[in-house]
Amino acid sequence: MENCVFCKILRKEIPSEIIYENKKVIAFKDLSPKAPVHLLVVPKKHIASVNDIKEEDKEIVGELFLAARNVAKIAGIQDEGYKLAINVGEGGGQEVFHLHVHLLGGWKNVKKL
Ligand code: AMP
Ligand code: ZN
Repeated sequence: MENCVFCKILRKEIPSEIIYENKKVIAFKDLSPKAPVHLLVVPKKHIASVNDIKEEDKEIVGELFLAARNVAKIAGIQDEGYKLAINVGEGGGQEVFHLHVHLLGGWKNVKKL
């Protein structure tokens, strides 16, 4: 997808802080984090949203969740817990139309001011 920002990131055409990558999935830091840990877990195949997942994408969706679990471990928040969120469509708050899972966490060990 020519103009998709996440496709550009996975083609390394625009910079990002990549923290995990395998054959099917990439994960990088969200540009404007809404949590102490805020990563985006993204399939390398361009699928616009959950509404656009096809039967043939079943395996990719599984890979996406396994990668999210692995990334939580890498980020050191697997045991304390975290949130996975997927916004679907404009009404669901989706801004980038390339399927992605938000991995949010790290609140437990944040120092209170
Ligand atoms: P959503 O609203 O679910 O579509 O989430 C899109 C997310 O992508 C937002 O949290 C943005 O902060 C994030 N984002 C947009 N552009 C970039 C970028 N170039 N690098 C990293 N994160 C981005
Ligand atoms: Zn894309």
